[in-house]
Amino acid sequence: MQKRFRFTNIYAIAAIAVVGGALFGFDISSMSAIISTQHYLCYFNQGPNYWGQVTADNPKGHCSGPTASTQGGITAAMPGGSWLGALTSGFLTDKFGRNKAIRIGSGIWIIGSAITCGSQGIAMLIVGRVINGFAVGICSAQVPVYISELAPPSKRGRLVGCQQWAITWGILIMFYISYGSSFIGEENTPNAWRVPWGLQAIPAVILLVGLCFMPESPRWLAKHNQWEEAERVVAESHASGDSAHPFVRKELKEIRDVVEFENMNADVTYLELIKPHMIWRTHIGVFTQIWSQLTGMNVMMYYITYVFTMAGLSGNIMLISSSISFVINVVMTIPALLWIDRWGRRIPLLVGGTLMATWMFTTGGLMGSYGHYVPGGIDGVGAASWSVSGPPATAVIATTYLFVASFAPTWGPVSWIYPPELFPLRVRGKAVALCTSSNWAFNFALSYFVPPGLEQIQWRLYMVFGVFCATMTIHVFFAFPETAGKTLEEVEGMFLEGQPAWKTKVVTKRTMALEQGDMESGERISYPAGVEKKRRTS
Ligand code: BGC
Repeated sequence: MQKRFRFTNIYAIAAIAVVGGALFGFDISSMSAIISTQHYLCYFNQGPNYWGQVTADNPKGHCSGPTASTQGGITAAMPGGSWLGALTSGFLTDKFGRNKAIRIGSGIWIIGSAITCGSQGIAMLIVGRVINGFAVGICSAQVPVYISELAPPSKRGRLVGCQQWAITWGILIMFYISYGSSFIGEENTPNAWRVPWGLQAIPAVILLVGLCFMPESPRWLAKHNQWEEAERVVAESHASGDSAHPFVRKELKEIRDVVEFENMNADVTYLELIKPHMIWRTHIGVFTQIWSQLTGMNVMMYYITYVFTMAGLSGNIMLISSSISFVINVVMTIPALLWIDRWGRRIPLLVGGTLMATWMFTTGGLMGSYGHYVPGGIDGVGAASWSVSGPPATAVIATTYLFVASFAPTWGPVSWIYPPELFPLRVRGKAVALCTSSNWAFNFALSYFVPPGLEQIQWRLYMVFGVFCATMTIHVFFAFPETAGKTLEEVEGMFLEGQPAWKTKVVTKRTMALEQGDMESGERISYPAGVEKKRRTS
């Protein structure tokens, strides 16, 4: 029988898999580029201003679009669906495999995009976004698991970090497509948003087709007793198909040890994550994602156009200034991909939290001190009901960029790299699903509350996020241990021994020596004797 072609190079596999992350990015920026256009505002208009009706309050005869809370609901529909999708992915990935779970996600995305593109009103738009969100939830939770289980240990951090890079690229690409499309047709016609929401289905088709030519995670295969295939995948992805290669033999032995150990604990449910030996790290993983949302980064991603409207920008200048923050996001993620394994996880989280708190307090302070309230909002947009001009406005734009530049190499990638490292293979699929679902739960809450928040408390909202950034920095300092460069049994030992987080360190030199010498991977199950005993009794 002729062997079917399939991708075996780990970089090629990761490049295709992270398209799942890009879908997430598409959704974020298509909203921010589209919500301020008249094409969108007129089609989904709820008043009080209407197209062509020039009044004292509406000198340009523009539409005011959905109300702030309806817009919050439209935006929130995606993270709401994603929350459900991420949780559901825990079952899909255990039953059908990592690869198939992501395929299901991409198929659902195509359906969601068709509905969003063809929307006939606010209700249909919300349904389409919930479905798109469901797809993104599955992909964003399972792509990191898929990659981390296929990647050789030495490249794992960087390859999983690529998911964040793909998110930032997705945001940037979609923003420009949406911006370009905003020139299609008259301002009160809908094709300007139908085109980008239809086009966003294309990468999902590529992902779906690509996944058919990509292997399943060898660890999932082994768990489901498909040893021959597991061996073939490890040999292909780590040693050009040579199954006698020492690293392949070693990796397979480790997988076998893990699977045999796991069979003693066969039934893994979400409840496992709150058992005494797991609850502490579950809280860390979940909070990694919760805090990444409470940084306020998505105010800069979803609602950047409101922020810049308040700083006096409008029209194309405003859209171009917004896109600069998306470029900064892409570029500033690169240092993390290069050095995250040397920096570790704690340092980026601590430095990122401190810098972001500084920028949030500065932005809030500048707006509060130099701005003024605009009843009814600038151009009738309720969420932009504060105005700042002159040098303080320029400073607000600058601090916004600095904020994005601080998130991009720190909380952004670490929020995806850290959770899979905290958990053993046995619970990894469900644990990462739970952590990712908390990202979406908070993304949902924030996207719903930010527009009314901007409308009601204006610049004070920045102060609230500043407090969150300061709090997360303290939480990380006292509770988040360093996992970089450690094997998984060392991570396990670190938790069981209850080592204080602030005393834990990155172990780069030793890890590199291990990998160059005997290619020791992070999946050994030979726990140190004391730890093993504690583990079995806990
Ligand atoms: C976050 C998203 C955010 C994005 C921005 C991700 O890590 O989970 O909510 O929009 O980074 O780059």
